[in-house]
Amino acid sequence: MTNPDNDRSFQRWLNKAAEVTGFRMSTEERQRNLEQQKYARCEKWKAELLNYSPKVVFMLNHLRLSGCPIPPSSIICAPCDSTRSGGFHPAGAIILCQGHFGSKKHMEDTLTHELVHVYDHCKFSVDWHNLRHHACSEIRANSLSGDCRYMRELGRGYVSFSKQHQACVRRRAILSVRANPACPDTASAERAVNEVWESCFSDTRPFDDIC
Ligand SMILES: [Zn+2]
Repeated sequence: MTNPDNDRSFQRWLNKAAEVTGFRMSTEERQRNLEQQKYARCEKWKAELLNYSPKVVFMLNHLRLSGCPIPPSSIICAPCDSTRSGGFHPAGAIILCQGHFGSKKHMEDTLTHELVHVYDHCKFSVDWHNLRHHACSEIRANSLSGDCRYMRELGRGYVSFSKQHQACVRRRAILSVRANPACPDTASAERAVNEVWESCFSDTRPFDDIC
C-alpha cells in the first residue's frame, strides 16, 4: 500500500531532481542547454577581457587610433567546428568559437590573435589571397598573441624548449596558410612562411616587444 501523500511528494522530489540533474532531458535539449551554457560563458569572458585584459584593451585602443574601431557587438561568440578557436572577417568582425576554450586565458590569446589580423588588415592593406601576405599576418598573430607560450605548447605535447617559441609560430603559421583556399599544397605554405619570416617575425607592431 502506498500513501498518496507520499506519492505526491515523491513525484515533486523527482521533478525537482530532474530539473537539477537534467536526466529527463532529451539529447537534443541537453545539447541545446550545453550550447547555451558555452555561449553564456563565452560572453562573460568576452566582457571581462574587453575591460580588463591588458593586451586586448591595448589592441582595441590601437585599432581605434588606426581608424578601425571594433565594437563589442562585432566580437561574436558562436559554435564552430572543432578544428578552430576563432576567426575574423575582413569587414571587421571576429568570431570566438564558444565551445573551444578551456580557460579565459586561452580565449584571451585567441582574441588577441584575431585582433592582430584585424590590425594588419586595417594598416597594411593585406591581400588574403596572397600567401605571403597571409603568412606574414599569421607569423605576427601567433607570435604576439601568446598562442605559443611554453605551457600551452606543453599541453599540446610539444616539449622541446630551445627555439620553442619560433618553432611554434612557424608551425602554426604554416597550418593556417595551408588552410587558405588559395594555397595548393603544404610546400607552398612553407615557402610563403619562409620567404617573409625575417621581416614579419621581427615586426611586433603595435607591441614594443613580444609579450
Ligand atoms: Zn590566424
